[in-house]
Amino acid sequence: MEKRVLSGIRATGRLHLGNYLGAVKGMLALQRDSEYETLYMIADLHTMTTPYDRKTLTSMAREVVMDYLSCGLDPEKSVVFVQSDVADLHAQLAFYLSTVVSVARMRHLPTFKDKVKQYPKHVTMALLNYPLLMAADILIYKASKVPVGIDQEPHLEVAREVARKMNAQYGMDFPEPTRFVTEGEYVPSLMGEGKMSKSVEGSYITLTDDLATIKKRLAVAPTDSGKGDKVPSTGGVANLLALIELFEGRKRRREYEEQYVTDGIQYKDLKDELAGAISRELEPIQKRRKELEADPKYVDQVIREGAEKARLIARKTVAEVREKMGLG
Ligand code: AMP
Repeated sequence: MEKRVLSGIRATGRLHLGNYLGAVKGMLALQRDSEYETLYMIADLHTMTTPYDRKTLTSMAREVVMDYLSCGLDPEKSVVFVQSDVADLHAQLAFYLSTVVSVARMRHLPTFKDKVKQYPKHVTMALLNYPLLMAADILIYKASKVPVGIDQEPHLEVAREVARKMNAQYGMDFPEPTRFVTEGEYVPSLMGEGKMSKSVEGSYITLTDDLATIKKRLAVAPTDSGKGDKVPSTGGVANLLALIELFEGRKRRREYEEQYVTDGIQYKDLKDELAGAISRELEPIQKRRKELEADPKYVDQVIREGAEKARLIARKTVAEVREKMGLG
């Protein structure tokens, strides 16, 4: 059997550098690898696990499709599809998988606890089930590699546990999926604390930001006096240096670290240079994006064909699980 890859991004807004470096770059690397059949999804059902706007859900999903294609996901090589187009199969499998997982296991996941803190009034069953739906997304394609950021590791652990249990109890042949790691597996926030995230205003740079916007966003990133005995390992300066490394390489980071303990860093120069490097990487993506915006029929076709291809594989797995679990 050809090895499969599955990854997805929620339809919660335009993609940011965290999504790009943590997930999309890995998706592109595996798309180039002929050993793998790659399936890339827009996780709009997962979007519904936290408060969302029903008026924009469909258009948001479409935005992510266009971001995917602009970044280089190629429908000739990868199946690009919207999760809700195969909701009947993914949600069905998630239910079957839920029979082998305890409530306590789900409640103790750090990702669940974080979301409970973030949305104390929206602690729903959908939120508790998030990791099971994700396990279903992966296992329904029997995917063995999952290019996602490090924040998703606890969910992958659940997917592996579920795969093991389904294999042991029902004789399934699910692979135990592992994370495909990229250099940008953790892209820090511009605010100096935590990771870059769509839900934290000021923390991110989106793939559609132009140079002026990138400069504006970086301008408010916290810094210090620029000089000291020891280069900070956490906070705003550490995060800026992490971004320098991601966009300009380790050597450039070392030069700045050296500068910090000698002459001192001029943050205006550092930020201008970083903005330029980010903008150069984003320019071709933005150019492609403009072309796609002018060709809605093509985007429709990608979404339609993606759903058909995904469905063919997903249907087989669901039929197999039903049979093995006694549903005939
Ligand atoms: P989400 O927007 O939560 O659906 O995340 C989509 C993908 O982007 C997942 O693979 C995440 O792990 C990844 N991701 C999100 N934020 C970051 C970040 N700050 N650094 C690295 N990867 C990230």
